Amino acid sequence: MSFDLARVRAEFPLLAREVNGQPLAYLDSAASAQKPQAVIEAESQFYRNGYAAVHRGIHTLSAEATTEMENVRVQAAAFLNAASAEEIVFVKGTTEAINLVANSWGSSQLQPGDNIIITEMEHHANIVPWQMVAQRTGAEVRFIPLTPQGELDIAQLPLLMDSRTRLLAVTQVSNVLGTENPVKELVAQAKAAGVVTLIDGAQAVMHHSVDVQDLDCDFYVFSGHKIYGPTGIGILYGRKALLDQMPPWEGGGAMIATVSLTNGTTYAAAPWRFEAGSPNTAAIIGLGAALKWIGELGLDVICQRERELMRYALDKLALVPDIIIYGPSQRSGVVAFNLGKHHAFDVGSFLDQYGIAIRTGHHCAMPLMHYYQVPAMCRASFVLYNTEEEVDRLVAGLTRIHRLLG
Ligand code: PMP
Repeated sequence: MSFDLARVRAEFPLLAREVNGQPLAYLDSAASAQKPQAVIEAESQFYRNGYAAVHRGIHTLSAEATTEMENVRVQAAAFLNAASAEEIVFVKGTTEAINLVANSWGSSQLQPGDNIIITEMEHHANIVPWQMVAQRTGAEVRFIPLTPQGELDIAQLPLLMDSRTRLLAVTQVSNVLGTENPVKELVAQAKAAGVVTLIDGAQAVMHHSVDVQDLDCDFYVFSGHKIYGPTGIGILYGRKALLDQMPPWEGGGAMIATVSLTNGTTYAAAPWRFEAGSPNTAAIIGLGAALKWIGELGLDVICQRERELMRYALDKLALVPDIIIYGPSQRSGVVAFNLGKHHAFDVGSFLDQYGIAIRTGHHCAMPLMHYYQVPAMCRASFVLYNTEEEVDRLVAGLTRIHRLLG
């Protein structure tokens, strides 16, 4: 199937908006993507015609809602090529998924003197939960350093790993640099040493297809809102053998088998053991619609189109006077930059006046800012609905800001 940009854009109502009197150029999808009509409709349709609590009712609406929700579990499993739907846990997002693994697997497995390996380019969501569990258990957090090209210095991994290494947690794609990490190779090295692996797929799943069995990772996590789905929903994939051994981390309804005031509680099987309380059913259904929408468009076609646009963007941005672009030439989804010595907030505010939305700040990656010795960066994201014209507007805007600010 070929890629019809005008048709794709027409499916996103918000892209027709004006901001500050200009047509919106939404270049902030790596923070959160806009939603196609199919997702908006699926959620609203559920509230209009199918809404009920899941799991707890015998009545028709509840049974239908439960089936719809469980169908999305099957769909998410197929999306990641997981071996079974029982390896899919519904969570709020990537952050909650990692906290779940850190609290459940980490708290039950880590011993004083053990170590966890992450990388210098992780999002805070893949740093802080490990620091917290390390502090509680007496484990240590190590990191794979960066090269000046903004890639991982993977030669360091064998030097960092030792007999006490228990977990390797690494992002598949950097949310700042767009670096595509060789996660399959890293997982293979970790596996060979008996180390459990977690891949943060928050910036990867919308750009190319993922096969968790091929990657051979133990955990894979992503957020619905970055893949054109609703906010407040995400997926934790966990290898069944591991999920089955892990204790629950939150207690409440829906995650139990039996509860007795005198004999305590027994828990439901995984994945339901990790889903305490009423789930975000509407968002789960919206996520199902997003995965279906992506599947119909085809990730291969999306990937090819996005690579074309990224090439165009990198070539054009390089022409902006005094621009500093961070990261490797081969990248997915994002371009981080600074304009001379100007603070990213100033640049972002000017661009906003021109109707161009980018992200500015530390991008929840302070260690990466520290590596580059800058307090903040600008970041433009390019996804399936962005256009060459929007790139040209960004370049023209930056050139104008450079002229105005000197
Ligand atoms: N990891 C990466 C690489 C991310 O880009 C993000 C979101 N910026 C997260 C984790 C956290 O995702 P969420 O806020 O949806 O939980």
